[in-house]
Amino acid sequence: MPRTILIAGNWKMNKNYGEGVDLAQQLANELADGTNGVEVVVCPPFVDLKGVAGVIEFDDAPFGLGAQNVYWEKAGAYTGETSRDMLDSVGCTYCIIGHSERRDYFGETDDDVNKKAKCLVEGNITPILCCGESLEVRKAGKHVEHVVSQIKADCAGLPIDRGDQLVIAYEPIWAIGTGETATADDAEEVCKAIRDTLRDMFGAVADEIRVLYGGSAKPGNIAGFVAEDDVDGALVGGASLVAGDFAEMVRKSA
Ligand code: PEP
Repeated sequence: MPRTILIAGNWKMNKNYGEGVDLAQQLANELADGTNGVEVVVCPPFVDLKGVAGVIEFDDAPFGLGAQNVYWEKAGAYTGETSRDMLDSVGCTYCIIGHSERRDYFGETDDDVNKKAKCLVEGNITPILCCGESLEVRKAGKHVEHVVSQIKADCAGLPIDRGDQLVIAYEPIWAIGTGETATADDAEEVCKAIRDTLRDMFGAVADEIRVLYGGSAKPGNIAGFVAEDDVDGALVGGASLVAGDFAEMVRKSA
């Protein structure tokens, strides 16, 4: 079965409630003629989720909703955290986990990412699980080894039997928000290694799991990435904050 291209926007800690609703509205207008078979998801900050969900429902907008983090416990005394069922209650069907900013600034470990992934898959929310190497690791030529070990740890024991239950985003840290992009060949090398690893772990279903590229993806370079055999779309940071640019990326991925 061919894999549907997925373009996901990570708004990070940008856009207050009103600005988030506005951006979603602009994107709904930009994509009013459809997405040509490309699946589109936006991942706003928590406080914007309900408002963006409202825009999606009211405008019948052709994009889905994802969060940027989750906590694996069901409920209780976990001040500041948000559960999977809370995400589900506002219409999230995706959730980013393991982003390098969470690993670097908030100490998220592979074990944490694995717990979050299990909790999401068990609740039918698809993790967009991020992995990627630092510049130091890339310069040492150990990038494939590094990413493969992240995937093995982060995806261990996931109850996956369908390709739509998991998305991986390969995001070389040196290319995130820096304007520095990996080449399409760099992305393919690692995305292929990720798929081979997923095949070892989950069997043939790995051929249905989307593996995205992320790191300064923009309208001018997206087509080159999605043309690669094992790159099934992009996780987009900066360019997802401008509705026209993000919509152009969707069109160029079709
Ligand atoms: C990201 O942080 O997920 C990302 C890919 O950011 P940018 O596109 O801005 O590099």
